[in-house]
Amino acid sequence: AQMREERIEKTKTVCTYCGVGCSFDVWTKGREILKIEPQEEAPANGISTCVKGKFGWDYVNSEERLKKPLIREGDAFREAEWEEALDLIESKFKETMSKKGPDALAFISSSKCTNEESYLMQKLGRGVIGTNNIDNCSRYCQSPATMGLWRTVGYGGDSGSITDIGQAELVITIGSNTAESHPVLATRVKRAQKLYGQKVIVADLRKHEMADRADLFVRPAPGSDLVWLSAVTKYIIDQGWHDETFLSEHVNDVEEYIRSLDKYTLDYASETTGMSKDELIEIATSIHQAKTTSILWAMGVTQHGGGSDTSTAISNLLLVTGNYMKPGAGAYPLRGHNNVQGASDFGSMPDRFPGYQFVSDDEVRGRFEKSWGTDIPKEPGLNNHEMVDAMHDGRLDVLYLKGEDMGIVDSNINYVHSAFEKLDFFVVQDIFFSKTCEYADVVLPASPSLEKDGTFVNTERRFQRLYKVLDPLGDSKPDWQIIVEIANRMGADWDYGHPSEIMDEAASLTPMFAGVSYDRLEGYDSLQWPVDADGTDTPLLFEDKFPFPDGKARLWPVDWTKPVEFGEDYDLHVNNGRILEHFHEGNMTYKSEGITRKTPKVFLEVSHELARERNLEDGTVVRLTSPYGSVKVSCIVTDRVFGNQLYLPMNTNGEGAINYLTSSHSDKDTDTPAYKEVSVKMEVLEPK
Ligand code: SF4
Repeated sequence: AQMREERIEKTKTVCTYCGVGCSFDVWTKGREILKIEPQEEAPANGISTCVKGKFGWDYVNSEERLKKPLIREGDAFREAEWEEALDLIESKFKETMSKKGPDALAFISSSKCTNEESYLMQKLGRGVIGTNNIDNCSRYCQSPATMGLWRTVGYGGDSGSITDIGQAELVITIGSNTAESHPVLATRVKRAQKLYGQKVIVADLRKHEMADRADLFVRPAPGSDLVWLSAVTKYIIDQGWHDETFLSEHVNDVEEYIRSLDKYTLDYASETTGMSKDELIEIATSIHQAKTTSILWAMGVTQHGGGSDTSTAISNLLLVTGNYMKPGAGAYPLRGHNNVQGASDFGSMPDRFPGYQFVSDDEVRGRFEKSWGTDIPKEPGLNNHEMVDAMHDGRLDVLYLKGEDMGIVDSNINYVHSAFEKLDFFVVQDIFFSKTCEYADVVLPASPSLEKDGTFVNTERRFQRLYKVLDPLGDSKPDWQIIVEIANRMGADWDYGHPSEIMDEAASLTPMFAGVSYDRLEGYDSLQWPVDADGTDTPLLFEDKFPFPDGKARLWPVDWTKPVEFGEDYDLHVNNGRILEHFHEGNMTYKSEGITRKTPKVFLEVSHELARERNLEDGTVVRLTSPYGSVKVSCIVTDRVFGNQLYLPMNTNGEGAINYLTSSHSDKDTDTPAYKEVSVKMEVLEPK
């Protein structure tokens, strides 16, 4: 063992941060991480990584890692052995089931965990406990994009590969801080712009790096993207620039859709969005002139009351202009977490089995019931958002949550915290003692990605293997092993020896992943779904048909939902998103020394205009208050934001967390929180 400790090892893994899915070799000596070495054959990134992928790994050896199960005693926690913690979970789960039935329990999976772990979490909920109350954090981000694409083109995934984006003649990014949120993907665009004259249009509230580099940067009013997208589409049709051949061969419901655009005139759009008519015409003309247009979008689109409809409008525009079925064209909803795509792909959703098969479909459900040897309820369960209400009104008594700091990342977190307090029994499984753990009854120590085998699916629908680099720290265990132990205590008889066996089972039940197996994912080999049984995968999602019975896509009329208004007192709009160095709630990156030294705490970006008006300077401490809560944060004066627009990074490590300010309003079709619809008033606490 001593010798082994001292040997230098090189192991392939996949980045645990964003959805680009960079893969690389990790060099280790014992538990020491010596370096990250990207390889040419890495499909998404080649020899590139960003600062997080390169330097953001020392959290795995942090002193703060959870190493033993914790059990609540009064207001404190004490360490416990696994047996005791699992005994307690078993007895509480069984007690609740016998008192109130399986729907009094709920399960939340994690986009940080592997596909195999998401599969097991939904199998535990549905097959062992008997409830469809299962969800994951794509509910917080990209469910609206998935909805928009499902409605129109039938698959909720990126149209092509990340490398294809480099081939587009025109790239439009909407509500995406691509250079900071998906850095390595952004370098493809930057390179194509420089080398091949790729045209880039950016629509955003904030002048981030991509906006700086764009050929055209437009700033539509918050939450108004559907309006300008529809107006541009209408203008294209009015000019006769639509792709008639593509529409007649591949698209249904064209006439009805065109009629639905009547009100989206340039005048109306200009008035509503604040964009000039020239800008709208320039966007339409650029799309008309480009042979291929790719549209990239992220949370600036989805986290609104009409997020699904705006995503639908994007897809409508691409259909009208024939921008599907060719490399360099199509829809690219950029997935945030490393495995947010996979968590939904593998069925951690209240209404879908793996592969987006409906729970309510008798044939599908019968197939899973036969394989699992259990009955599965037909009715969809609660999503994350509904779970919070159900905790408040006493329908939900038990929550088992893994790898998700819901107490920071959900919206309106004061309301979420009080919901947690109403639970009878709360199990949180994580690698660190998060804010959410403060409300738990039992905390289970899990292992991060470097300590387990498995697969992730990145934003371009690509399955990639990660290999175990280190042994689990202390008594922590890979999430899949913990779920197996809980399931078996609840009466299951699972004997998976390795995650590959879980994948084999999931693939056998899911036509979309029929040919996915570990043999086909050795080393840097990868597969993009759908994958046929013979292993043929699908880099270009649509080649000659869309996955509807007649092979045709559907244009889907949508209408604009006005953003929520907070009232006159709340005179400043707070945009929120990522910064390059940190990731999400910061649980991992704030434990990484190098990264924290560079960006030690959260800050608020304010405009020069506002700074002059309110006497703000770099370092001025302010309190922001919305109807839902308040935060204290210090200012940075910058030209990245304009007028009454503020920018508060969501990467907070607890302090200054944006979700003390956000509301419980959500996308009307998917319940994704309207994180981007938040207004505040500002009070200056400590002038510099
Ligand atoms: Fe990781 Fe994303 Fe950075 Fe790649 S771009 S190294 S996947 S955080």
